[in-house]
Amino acid sequence: MPDYDFDLFVIGAGSGGVRAARLAAQTGARVAIAEEYRIGGTCVIRGCVPKKLLVYASEFSQNFKDAKGFGWTVEWARFDWASLRDNVQAEVSRLSAAYRANLDKAGVETIEDRARFAGPNKLYLEKAKRAVTAKRVLIATGGRPTIPGEIKGVEHAITSNEAFHLEDLPKQIVIAGGGYIAVEFATIFSGLGVETTLVHRGEHILRGFDEDVRAFVQNELARTGVRMILNATISQIAPTGAGQLVTLGNGMRIEADQTMLALGRSPNTQALGLEEAGVHVRENGAVIVDAHSKTNVDHIYALGDVTDRMALTPVAIREAVAFVETVYKNNPTAFDHHDVATAVFGRPPIGCVGMTEAEARRQFGHVDVYKTSFRPMKHILAGNDERVLMKLIVHPVSHKVIGVHIVGRDAPEMIQIAAIAVKAGLTKAQWDETCAVHPTAAEELVLLREKSA
Ligand code: NDP
Repeated sequence: MPDYDFDLFVIGAGSGGVRAARLAAQTGARVAIAEEYRIGGTCVIRGCVPKKLLVYASEFSQNFKDAKGFGWTVEWARFDWASLRDNVQAEVSRLSAAYRANLDKAGVETIEDRARFAGPNKLYLEKAKRAVTAKRVLIATGGRPTIPGEIKGVEHAITSNEAFHLEDLPKQIVIAGGGYIAVEFATIFSGLGVETTLVHRGEHILRGFDEDVRAFVQNELARTGVRMILNATISQIAPTGAGQLVTLGNGMRIEADQTMLALGRSPNTQALGLEEAGVHVRENGAVIVDAHSKTNVDHIYALGDVTDRMALTPVAIREAVAFVETVYKNNPTAFDHHDVATAVFGRPPIGCVGMTEAEARRQFGHVDVYKTSFRPMKHILAGNDERVLMKLIVHPVSHKVIGVHIVGRDAPEMIQIAAIAVKAGLTKAQWDETCAVHPTAAEELVLLREKSA
């Protein structure tokens, strides 16, 4: 049997890679993990964590307005971008160090270098200029923002990667896209007082979400001051003395200090030497894997965003756990990608699990739909017009709740709990048997009696 330097070599120290490395090392395997940038990956360094902290910051502007109805006078409220940016980066550094410490504690060798395949069992470390060998390799390199080449002057735009590090907060920003990142950053920037324009190629933002959710969020963003330009794309970004001139395909021009692209993310497989190892990828570069995250090469696995299955941190972590169970604990495990709840931290935030109404109708013909929209009690006193939307999709025969869609404050918190009931396959009658918690917005989920369709 050949003697390898490591039993497992993980490329990429993001959520999935770190979890797999630590758990594999805990079984006694000799594990190394390589990271070319900072330990923690997209979620910790330039995604979920810093994004959510910016969302919290952006909520204060509305909270200050709401405070008045409760008798508070908030004077002299001022926002300082540099303080927020630096505090967020300090927290990111703390978490990155904690990830590193946990890898050390588990006995994983952390290699701060870019690794690429130099053969099926051989990795070349670019900074160190040396090769190492491994019995198994796990590709967990994540994704990167997609930058369409057809936009002239695209080099003048930023992506979410740079948004966390801006020297100054722009006064006006144009955000291209209508997905998770576009909606979340439109929420952040407009909440921080930036004049925000969203340019989306479709008629409605958030493709893939329930139609009621899409319409509701689009209206709310517009109502709270985000300018929406729909059925349009950016064709050119040109610097001007003071900022940028953004030209759309329809000829329209917008002046802004900054343009941000949020046009999807692509799997990070460029220059990884996959051809040296014979690993197959899809047209978009995603590594092709089976249910156990195994590639077409027996000893090479891939998980997380690089596989383009479901680009969500908790999914990458569960895929990592399943990988270690399968490979190192002799317990073949495949993560079930059904009924994974997701949240968009927009204004208002969204929480969803299971099928949309349209998906359910396509699959079952008829479905029962229960929905409500109301102004939560806090908003009434505050004089805030933001509403809550709740929608349950119920299977026509089994009467199981197969989809839950919530928009409104705390929707991401609510959907985590609702996801347990959906995953467990509980029926609408079982939801209804559950006694309400009063006064909450969430109680409406167990009080919906009238079918809307
Ligand atoms: P999304 O796939 O969510 O959205 C991409 C957007 O860009 C869509 O509106 C799409 O339009 C549009 N688009 C794509 N290509 C073009 C183009 N060439 N010209 C014009 N518009 C274009 O991507 P994001 O970048 O927002 O996020 C990537 C992924 O990261 C998400 O899908 C999600 O899995 C994950 N994520 C999760 C978060 C969370 O859990 N809260 C937060 C952020 C990201 P169309 O709809 O017409 O295709």
